[in-house]
Amino acid sequence: MAAPNESMPPQGPVPPGDRRSPEDPAGSAGPVPPAEPGTVRGAAPAGTPTLEPRPIPPMPVEPAAEPVPLTITGVQLFWLRMPLVAPFETSYGRVDRRECLLVRLEARHPEAGPVEGWGEVVADADPGYSYETTGTAWHVLSEFVLPALPGRTFETPGQWRAAFEWVRGHPMAKAGVEMALLDARSRARGVPLWQEYGGDPGRRRIPVGVSVGIQPTLDDLLATVERWLERGYRRIKIKIKPGYEVEPVRALRERFGDIPLMVDANAAYTLADAERLEALDGYGLMMIEQPLHEDDLLDHALLQRRLRTPVCLDESVRHVHAAREALVLGSGRIINIKQGRVGGPTDARMIHDLCRRHGIPVWCGGMLETGVGRAHNIALTTLPGFTLPGDTSGSNRYYHEDVIDPPVRVGPDGTIEVPQEPGLGFRVVPERVERYTVRHRSWRAS
Ligand SMILES: [Mg+2]
Repeated sequence: MAAPNESMPPQGPVPPGDRRSPEDPAGSAGPVPPAEPGTVRGAAPAGTPTLEPRPIPPMPVEPAAEPVPLTITGVQLFWLRMPLVAPFETSYGRVDRRECLLVRLEARHPEAGPVEGWGEVVADADPGYSYETTGTAWHVLSEFVLPALPGRTFETPGQWRAAFEWVRGHPMAKAGVEMALLDARSRARGVPLWQEYGGDPGRRRIPVGVSVGIQPTLDDLLATVERWLERGYRRIKIKIKPGYEVEPVRALRERFGDIPLMVDANAAYTLADAERLEALDGYGLMMIEQPLHEDDLLDHALLQRRLRTPVCLDESVRHVHAAREALVLGSGRIINIKQGRVGGPTDARMIHDLCRRHGIPVWCGGMLETGVGRAHNIALTTLPGFTLPGDTSGSNRYYHEDVIDPPVRVGPDGTIEVPQEPGLGFRVVPERVERYTVRHRSWRAS
């Protein structure tokens, strides 16, 4: 058996005990030493794609946070079911209502006294976008995380992360709690939420785009896009699926000209479909989001090498480790950061920092959030690396009535104002949360 790092000559495997190698045909150098990191030995069989080695960036460090001692006195978990203003269709399915969890922390600060904090678990009711669902998040939070919180004191988000690092996966469930903790910290400190996220004070408004689901006909698509453009949205993203990509893009270009336009496949294609995606190259798209399987950074790297259009990763980046691997492999040129998908605000910030250092633009994706998640996304988007318009549309994009007051509003210039009041900057209306709640649990310090 050849050693794991030993290269194979093109004509066949090295016989057992044979010391010869392509570099040392005479076999005089003794056993072949392990390859240096970043080196490639031997030739790949004809037709086998290869990737050039790239430098491996160091892992980004967790951002420092001012100690703010918050003792958790109570936790509430709400399962909400909210009707959408219109059904939303992607390559994996169609929904007409939103099911999500809201986390409310009650905490005590030595000087500020009692404060609350709200966070949102962005998982969907079904596992179409990710394996996490509203139900799995309810299970993980109510069995393993939330009962352990009352009575504990966290001075930094890092302490919370360290305490629950043992919970493997389930990033959306954990992110909802960390968001609530950041909201409570900002209220205790009396600072706006964007400061907790480490945002840029100069960002008083954030540019936003809108995500348009798959429409029944091209006429419906053109009418829908026209409506959002009239409302000022800065860029249009349409959902695509195999067989529904070139036609809608061509129709939009013919009707609306050179608008900022991008497509999102939600992992519906394979490398065998590369020609369909190459056909989009002539339409000047800002990016093609998540064309391939969420776990396949290698095929994304191969696809990106065939496309002029930047590939943007969404589902593939579930943590900072994947972001780092994607950078090394060249799996895309843009990353969509969803703080729920990546495990919370701190992880989102670490991915942001990594991308910023390596010249990868990022933007903030959306999960049809209620106003709570939307407020957290606005705060996240104030970080300086968020240079592309995100999916944080106004509350009325999805809901007749949001759980916050006032609702998130998009100005005629396609931007949202960043709140400057302490906390979310929006009031969570308890009666509305109650109205849409179908399941509720609470835990208190004994
Ligand atoms: Mg997406």
